[in-house]
Amino acid sequence: QLSKRLHCVASYIKKGMKIADIGSDHAYLPCYSVKQGAASFAVAGEIAEGPFQSAKEQVEKVRLGHLIDVRKGDGLEVVQPGEVDCIVIAGMGGPLITQILDKDKEKLAGVSRLILQPNIGAEHIRRWLLQNEWELIDEQILEEDGKIYEVLAAERGTPYKPYNESELFLGPFLLKKKNAVFVKKWSSELKGWQNILNSMDKAKDRPETEEKKRELLKKIAIVEEALS
Ligand code: SAM
Repeated sequence: QLSKRLHCVASYIKKGMKIADIGSDHAYLPCYSVKQGAASFAVAGEIAEGPFQSAKEQVEKVRLGHLIDVRKGDGLEVVQPGEVDCIVIAGMGGPLITQILDKDKEKLAGVSRLILQPNIGAEHIRRWLLQNEWELIDEQILEEDGKIYEVLAAERGTPYKPYNESELFLGPFLLKKKNAVFVKKWSSELKGWQNILNSMDKAKDRPETEEKKRELLKKIAIVEEALS
């Protein structure tokens, strides 16, 4: 049984796509999507020996070795330009995901879809997509086992209307839908920032504190407006 989080990621794979799942760990996502017939071929990429071995074992166990290639390597170095249509990077922080995408940009030639699932810092991904001429086509926010996850899907192109700061921070699609998980996530972040701000007020007047304070106040204003 695939987790709700990976199920949501898999739902953005278009039927017949060749995919690369970078940082695949146990290769659950490629196994599921190939078995379901969503992906026609998959590369499961892993940098670390342990997860690489568990990916190989899982692919053998479900007898999909002819359709899923488990490769060891750093980020996109495991794929050849033009080899896949879709790249999935899930279960990492937003900054690490953009670092992986930045490192071997030529490997994105021929890729028409990105499915990215940051555990934190989704705004880094939205900015990266914009700067690199990828258009967000949808976003989801979901809760599983007490954790909240965001899933972002993008295709080549730039949005018709550039996103403003709150759309970049909170997600243009998520902001429009404002579902219960969205409200839960940002209400809880808001509380945390307000607590930090209170303790800063006590610490007082160091220049770096002032800078941090300004950043927090900016985030608080964005989120308060979104939740109002
Ligand atoms: N993608 C799976 C998921 O969402 O359930 C696994 C997520 S796991 C938390 C992150 C995995 O990414 C780890 O197995 C780690 O070894 C791998 N990883 C981290 N940096 C990587 C990189 N630069 N290239 C390939 N794999 C990487």
